[in-house]
Amino acid sequence: MRSTFWLVVIVAAGLTQNLWAWGLIGHRVIGEIATRQLSLVSIQNIRNIIGKESLAQIANFPDEMKISETYSSTAPWHYVNVMEGKKYQEGPISDKGDLLQAIKAQSLILKDKKATPEKKRQALTFLVHFVGDLHQPLHNGYGADSGGNAIKFKLGGVETNFHAFWDNEVIDRQKLSASEYANFLMNLDDKEYGQWKKSTVLQWHEESRALLSSMYGQKSSIDAGDIGKYLRFSRPIVDRQLLLAGIRLAALLDDIFSEKELKDRFNY
Ligand SMILES: [Zn+2]
Repeated sequence: MRSTFWLVVIVAAGLTQNLWAWGLIGHRVIGEIATRQLSLVSIQNIRNIIGKESLAQIANFPDEMKISETYSSTAPWHYVNVMEGKKYQEGPISDKGDLLQAIKAQSLILKDKKATPEKKRQALTFLVHFVGDLHQPLHNGYGADSGGNAIKFKLGGVETNFHAFWDNEVIDRQKLSASEYANFLMNLDDKEYGQWKKSTVLQWHEESRALLSSMYGQKSSIDAGDIGKYLRFSRPIVDRQLLLAGIRLAALLDDIFSEKELKDRFNY
């Protein structure tokens, strides 16, 4: 039953490539980094929920779900739009849900001892994916241009857009597998990890938002046709965001699978 469902959504997904946030590799990198940082208690809990599958393997399902009719209501959970110059708390909050609401709701399901195994499996899948999306700055973008989707340009003769560029271009050009990419990023000094883990989910969103002005500001090099210059600017940002997402996903999962309360993570 389930395999038939995934076959249908995977076929459908192939038709709409530009809907893949962070690309397939990016989300797997985040799952891989998180797995290397988890507590033993979390590892055991995750095994109970998804068996032999890994976080990297389940990380992309939500992008496949959102384009299937049954789960189309989950599409707004992948992003949060806030007007330029405004803050999330100033509202209005979408009644269809948004990325911040979804991370909170799925975390609570995962922590709920009474939730069914199927609910927990789905919640874990969503969470692995959504913490990734939260670290793609354009998933925290300005509604006016649909998080950069409305800004079209050509790359190597093929039409693309600003959002898709940030989702895929930098990562795909590295030609690394997810585990190679995770190794590559984790070679950095790990002393900051403890600090990164402490912050709140709203801070993760605000950090992503803070990157937007330079991402848009430097866009003039794309407009001038100098994609190479823009890639050199964007690569360190993408790499850091992927690493942050992986480390923080592990921190959030460790909170969920410990006795800790989640209210400190979710001050919204
Ligand atoms: Zn997504």
